[in-house]
Amino acid sequence: MSDLFPRGGLNPASKYFTGTSYFSALSEDQVQIFNVTFEPGCRNFWHIHHASKGGGQILLCTQGRGWYQEWGKEARELHPGDVVNIPPEVKHWHGAAKDSEFVHIAVEVPGEDYSTEWCESVSDEEYFRLP
Ligand code: MN
Repeated sequence: MSDLFPRGGLNPASKYFTGTSYFSALSEDQVQIFNVTFEPGCRNFWHIHHASKGGGQILLCTQGRGWYQEWGKEARELHPGDVVNIPPEVKHWHGAAKDSEFVHIAVEVPGEDYSTEWCESVSDEEYFRLP
């Protein structure tokens, strides 16, 4: 399937991802918007988008099949057209399904004192339990 937005190069945050992902910045002004492509089996580490006011992230799913999971909750399966609102201060991960590439657009919701804290990886044991 052809890409809707540019796939870009290897993700500069790859050290916080398991597997291979690609990254392109679609907007760097006003609101930061990134296109992220995950190869099958690729997912990011557990992480938290911190902000003292506003903040968080919105995912717009465009291709393939993927997952989103918040700490302590069941994983949510994602398909093109799905929208995920990630509140600030919620530990979570997102990525591809084990048998499918996955692409989402990530909208970084503007906030005060915005930062992303990277935590532990999503273990193979918990990841490969997902269908
Ligand atoms: Mn996130």
